[in-house]
Amino acid sequence: MWDAIFFSALAMTAIIAARYFASSGVFALATRFRRPGYHDRLGPQIRREISWSLVSAAIYGIPAGIVAWGWQERGWTQIYTQWDAMPLWYLPIAPLAYLALHDTWFYWTHRWMHRPRLFRAMHAVHHASRPPTAWAAMSFHPWEALTGAVVIPALVFVIPIHIAMLGLVLAVMTIMGVTNHMGWEMFPRRLVHSRLGGWLITASHHQRHHEEYRCNYGLYFRFWDRLCKTDRGLSERV
Ligand SMILES: [Zn+2]
Ligand SMILES: [Zn+2]
Repeated sequence: MWDAIFFSALAMTAIIAARYFASSGVFALATRFRRPGYHDRLGPQIRREISWSLVSAAIYGIPAGIVAWGWQERGWTQIYTQWDAMPLWYLPIAPLAYLALHDTWFYWTHRWMHRPRLFRAMHAVHHASRPPTAWAAMSFHPWEALTGAVVIPALVFVIPIHIAMLGLVLAVMTIMGVTNHMGWEMFPRRLVHSRLGGWLITASHHQRHHEEYRCNYGLYFRFWDRLCKTDRGLSERV
């Protein structure tokens, strides 16, 4: 049993690391075309971002691997694979609930990590990227990575979700994590400045967090930032 759990954790770590290289690699390459020169002189920083991200891959991979093993071998979790196991209207509700709860957890733990002592101990690594690049997507101190690693593995025990919708949540998480750090906006201006855009977090919103630190703490949605008056709008430089 223990060796199966170990190999599941190892496999998840490898998958997360491969997903990181693929997603960050694609958007780092796109950055070369879109913002030529953005990466100039950032070589040492990018190497640090990659090293921290690989440590994070293991920290994310271990709980994910244990839960994946328990799902397959012990029937743990509320993940389902039959399309008709739940009513069809529920299908899009689950990923929205996951994103909203992940966003809430992230907002409050992120604000908490901006307290001076915790900042130095847990969050300074992430802000050492100045400016951040696509490789900073998982560049976290292990303590911070741990706060992020438990969210989805905990939610799958509580909220039923179809495996394909879970894949969608992970895809959104990965792509937004990368693109919010790459230094340029990939969404059309019309969307970013629209009414809907005013509630969504994209690169121009998160970049401002990296410029000013004590604002724009959210992950996917601007709900908490707006409610708690920590939203300072979009970066001028993106
Ligand atoms: Zn960031
Ligand atoms: Zn921060």
